[in-house]
Amino acid sequence: MDQKISQLQQYIAEANQITFFGGAGVSTESGLPDYRSSTGRYKELERKGIDPKVLMSKRFMLNHPEIFFRRPDKESAPKKPEPNAAHYYLAKLEEARKDIRIVTQNVDGLHQRAGSRFVLELHGSDHYWYCMDCERKYQRAELTRDEEGIPRCPIDRGIIRPAVILFGENPDPSVIQKSKDTIAQSDLLIIAGTSLSVYPAKNLTHYFKGKHVVVINEEAIPTPKLTIDLFIQAPVGQTLSRLPNPLDTFI
Ligand SMILES: [Zn+2]
Repeated sequence: MDQKISQLQQYIAEANQITFFGGAGVSTESGLPDYRSSTGRYKELERKGIDPKVLMSKRFMLNHPEIFFRRPDKESAPKKPEPNAAHYYLAKLEEARKDIRIVTQNVDGLHQRAGSRFVLELHGSDHYWYCMDCERKYQRAELTRDEEGIPRCPIDRGIIRPAVILFGENPDPSVIQKSKDTIAQSDLLIIAGTSLSVYPAKNLTHYFKGKHVVVINEEAIPTPKLTIDLFIQAPVGQTLSRLPNPLDTFI
């Protein structure tokens, strides 16, 4: 394991541009359940007899906002999750002037809260919401809800929804394009906390043409089109916190 950590440190030190491609596993150490594992949000919904693909769809949000905005998928999640060692390590890497770019499948905004400035959110974001009528943006904390629990725009009473990509909606094409470009330009790709099982994550990593691919995940993942140089089978935060502090190393 120590040898793997030194190898990772060496790859990071040598890289000119790094893409960190992350999924739910990056936030599980912040207490956020992932989606697809046996303890994940989707399984929890299924146990309650709810099909997550139905609940988390645009159609359901429009037809049953009073149920959608109760967010039964979030009942067991902590009220205010905090960034963990993985988010802080990446933010410090940027502070130490490494060109680290984050492409994430998470919608929790924890990378930005930790201080990262280059974050592409493939599935949108749960940390800002917008009015479906006038498109005014709102922070989650400032939402006011009507008697049915539906967040309403104080200006025009439109429904305020999270900026996440729901089932039945397409990812933002400009975010996809920027992610492809970033991956294609990087010389180090770190894939972390994701099974790469969902579109568009699955295909995006194929654009990598750089030197080294590192996978940090608790389970092995299928990457038929990528050669993995280093696989660290461990939680992401735990792994990154074992690396030397970038602020002591890179500046
Ligand atoms: Zn409005």
